[in-house]
Amino acid sequence: KPICLVENVNGWVKKQPKRKFYGELPYTYLKIADGCDHTCTFCDIPNIKGKHESRFPEDIINEAKELVDSNVKEIILISQDITQYGKDLKEKTNLIWLLNDLIKIDNLRRIRLMYLNPGSISDDLINLISKSKKICKYLDIPIQHIGKKILRRMGRKGSYNEFINLFSRIREKIPEIAFRSSIIIGFPGETENDYNLLCKFLEEVRLDWVGFFKFSPQEGTKAYHYNNKIDKKTVDRRYNDIVLLQNEISMELREELVGKTLEVLIEQSSIELNNYWEGR
Ligand code: SF4
Repeated sequence: KPICLVENVNGWVKKQPKRKFYGELPYTYLKIADGCDHTCTFCDIPNIKGKHESRFPEDIINEAKELVDSNVKEIILISQDITQYGKDLKEKTNLIWLLNDLIKIDNLRRIRLMYLNPGSISDDLINLISKSKKICKYLDIPIQHIGKKILRRMGRKGSYNEFINLFSRIREKIPEIAFRSSIIIGFPGETENDYNLLCKFLEEVRLDWVGFFKFSPQEGTKAYHYNNKIDKKTVDRRYNDIVLLQNEISMELREELVGKTLEVLIEQSSIELNNYWEGR
């Protein structure tokens, strides 16, 4: 059931009062905070962007209303970790309160949440997502790895079992949920056992999409100085194999959708096929 067709894109862009659109798509990103208070040893963002800083809720709501007036149907809330929203503001607020206000905006059809730290996803948030027709049943939860030793070297919390429990807890409440995650391959000290455990995890948890990244040492980060760097040949092999593994899982999950009727936000006509449309 298509919910939007992109028409008259030029007029749409002109009507946009403050923001400039760079694309012709019916969705857009809305930054709710910037910076990060986490201390991942491989990441330079806290050095570049500084501490987590939330935008005022009224500014976000006003911008969201303007976007919707400009024909945006889906707003993707982004920040380095949206679960931290509001913790630095004097006014008492948080992600759940913000979502409850955004949901009330007429003609906003979808709200998508991007980048939730796996350690900060509360039952209240899961309940709200499960009940709201407007919040996409899609969560981007970067886990980066599952080996406890590797995670601690990364400066991150979590473990194999904790992540299995997290994804199961969400699926229990929201069976139709789709997950995306990000994982670093070849972090210094990653053994063959760590890597095999990661593959086992992916087979067990069956995430819909995963972005894999080969570890790349960033100057100015703690991990830049770590010993036990993994040689390029091993990293390439692990990366290629795990991408193939996940592609199979993703394909199987997509095939399960064949024959189902889903609501789709039309983005554009297909470049490859006549009379087909691409949507999300
Ligand atoms: S990886 Fe993400 S959560 Fe970790 S420090 Fe960087 S921005 Fe923050």
